Amino acid sequence: MKILKNKSLKEFNQYGVDINAKYFVEIKNDNDITDLINSGYLKKENILILGSGNNILFTKDFNGIVVKPNLMGKKTIKEDNKFVWIEVNAGEDWDAFVKWCVENNYQGIENLANIPSSIGGAVSQNIAAYGQNIMDVIETVNTIDLRNGKKKTFSNKECEYTYRSSIFKSKEKNRYLITSTIFKLKKEIDNLEISYFERKSRYGSLEDELKSFAKEPYSIQDVSKAVINQRKKKLPSVKEYGTCGSVFENPTVTKEKYLSLSKSISELQSYPVEKLVYKKEGDERIEEYVKIPAGRIIDELGYRGKWKGNVSMYEKHALCLVTNRRASGKEIFNFLEDLRKEVNEKYDVNLNYEINIY
Ligand SMILES: Cc1cc2nc3c(=O)[nH]c(=O)nc-3n(C[C@H](O)[C@H](O)[C@H](O)COP(=O)(O)OP(=O)(O)OC[C@H]3O[C@@H](n4cnc5c(N)ncnc54)[C@H](O)[C@@H]3O)c2cc1C
Repeated sequence: MKILKNKSLKEFNQYGVDINAKYFVEIKNDNDITDLINSGYLKKENILILGSGNNILFTKDFNGIVVKPNLMGKKTIKEDNKFVWIEVNAGEDWDAFVKWCVENNYQGIENLANIPSSIGGAVSQNIAAYGQNIMDVIETVNTIDLRNGKKKTFSNKECEYTYRSSIFKSKEKNRYLITSTIFKLKKEIDNLEISYFERKSRYGSLEDELKSFAKEPYSIQDVSKAVINQRKKKLPSVKEYGTCGSVFENPTVTKEKYLSLSKSISELQSYPVEKLVYKKEGDERIEEYVKIPAGRIIDELGYRGKWKGNVSMYEKHALCLVTNRRASGKEIFNFLEDLRKEVNEKYDVNLNYEINIY
């Protein structure tokens, strides 16, 4: 284990923002973790746990220690006729794991293909796409408490999953380093999730995509391929742009507010909040709310495809910010704050960030 000083993080964040971390350390095994805990740095410095940097915006140098878990490897720990339990270490590439599961006919994450992420980042962010959520296949999460070096295993419930968040992204952010996760996937394929569609989309539904190259009954490989095809058509490629995908969460508004917004924003879709698995427990008024697509509102304001300096909202997907990788973190942040202000002033809607901002 080597603690580096004044390390540039340009290569470690998807926007390619060139800022320095006061200290930077890569963790490759249990010994590295022990050495890091014993080094004393974690007691006196601010901590930031960094995955593959696909959901992080740095606006200034990081005054503390960046810990990057490059813990690799996966193993099948148990299986029966119906399910398989696989333990995957935090530094593994999420998309490579999805591909491997699809090849092996393990069902549960085929719709989450092509999302750039480490395992640790995906588990912390509660990634979701095309009707699937990572939280639905997580059995337990193994961690190290960076305050004292003690191991702690979180059950799915203890991860406190909500929309694009978890205990690791919210109240215990940068305290528990995820070392590995146990996923429970199905071996008997049933009920493939192909219901996803967007009302105002030029790309058709997931089912349209499937029909274009496959025949029923669809296989898990077909569904994953359809998702990848759709994503390639409408999402920015990290090879071409600096991007972290969607920058804001889709807001939840009252049905009354939705109806009034629909009068000025054509084809504004709404999703029933009561169907969302991560609705707030105990909220009796949940049926009064709907979730609406932030991208449609941003599009309506004319941001889609319009560059300002080094930054734009992507021409094919208005919720994704893209840069030419020459933007500073401040330029990106100021652009987003102006956009949020405009949405708030024009439509009285508050946009919350999905990306982590430092
Ligand atoms: C083109 C593009 C498309 C995308 N599409 C989607 C999508 O469809 N759905 C979706 O949900 N997201 C999407 N994203 C967002 C992004 O891919 C996810 O948020 C991803 O999970 C981030 O993982 P990461 O490893 O890069 O984490 P980072 O960005 O490095 O970190 C994200 C958060 O996770 C924490 N973290 C990372 N590793 C650990 C660990 N080992 N222990 C504890 N905490 C940790 C960090 O502290 C931080 O809070 C997209 C991004 C891009 C660039």
